[in-house]
Amino acid sequence: MKALITGGAGFIGSHLSEYLLEQGHQVFAVDDLSTGNIENILQLKTHPHFHYTIDTIMNVPVTAELVDRCDVVFHLAAAVGVKLIVESPVRTIETNIKGTEIILELANKKKKKVLITSTSEVYGKGKQLPFSEADDLVLGPTHKGRWSYACSKAIDEFLALAYWHEKRLPVVVTRLFNTVGPRQIGRYGMVLPTFVKQALSGVEMTVFGDGSQARCFAHVSDVVEALYRLSEKEEAVGQVFNIGSKEECTILNLAEKVKSMTASQSKIVFVPYDKAYEEGFEDMPRRVPDISRLQSLIEYGPAKNLEQIIQSVIDYQRALLEAPTDT
Ligand code: UDP
Repeated sequence: MKALITGGAGFIGSHLSEYLLEQGHQVFAVDDLSTGNIENILQLKTHPHFHYTIDTIMNVPVTAELVDRCDVVFHLAAAVGVKLIVESPVRTIETNIKGTEIILELANKKKKKVLITSTSEVYGKGKQLPFSEADDLVLGPTHKGRWSYACSKAIDEFLALAYWHEKRLPVVVTRLFNTVGPRQIGRYGMVLPTFVKQALSGVEMTVFGDGSQARCFAHVSDVVEALYRLSEKEEAVGQVFNIGSKEECTILNLAEKVKSMTASQSKIVFVPYDKAYEEGFEDMPRRVPDISRLQSLIEYGPAKNLEQIIQSVIDYQRALLEAPTDT
């Protein structure tokens, strides 16, 4: 199989590239390096089945050529990270909506299968846990920047499903819950790499709000395996799937675990949401996926538990700190 991965140098995209190569497939990765990083794919550059293009998917002639050369498109290129979304809403909305429009339109010309990666953010403020795919989406008002991300991703889902229903383009929609692991960086707000970095460098660990909010963290290796398996299943076409872990942890507890596993002297401090993000910021108290639909179709563990996940991020960041630098 020849797979095009948009956002192929990103955190999840680079792991998916690696995984597909291991399975014997050809990978074409495209990334504009806006949030992706060339370092993520350095080890793949010499692989005979790996091809990469540094460009934006908004460059239609280039993207068209890549779509034509592949059998399936994994569309991961997007603006991600709550911090980035709050700080750059125009970029978030435009990248997420235009990018997906382009991919679907191009894929439709030759009916290439497209796997869309959406997000658990689309469940918004829903209170009924666990979140399952047919639940209502409960989003906040348009003057609160955070919701633009969920809304842009919901539009992507609508568009993908519309292409399936109206034009018979084979699409699979996935909603990724909190996905973590090596290569994820804290610059765009993600909590685990942020805590690990803070703990390893001995600075204050910043828990936003009172830390009682909880998340379920899945390791990226489990997530990319699920993406691949879904792409292989005929029955997945035209459907939406949650992908994530069901192991829930409060953010304060996560900070404590990271602190203890790194034997850090860092102090855990509480930062009000208004200061961490923006005035009136709304966070979700809990977010747990119902993964029964996913598990009814593919074999899915997930294999890694929270301790193993945290350890993998600590090992990765320790190696980075110990690596020799040019300066
Ligand atoms: N968070 C935190 N400290 C940080 C970064 C994030 O307490 O330095 C919190 C954030 O407010 C949220 C949770 O950790 O409640 C998960 O944040 P992340 O951005 O990783 O993912 P989200 O679930 O918000 O998409």
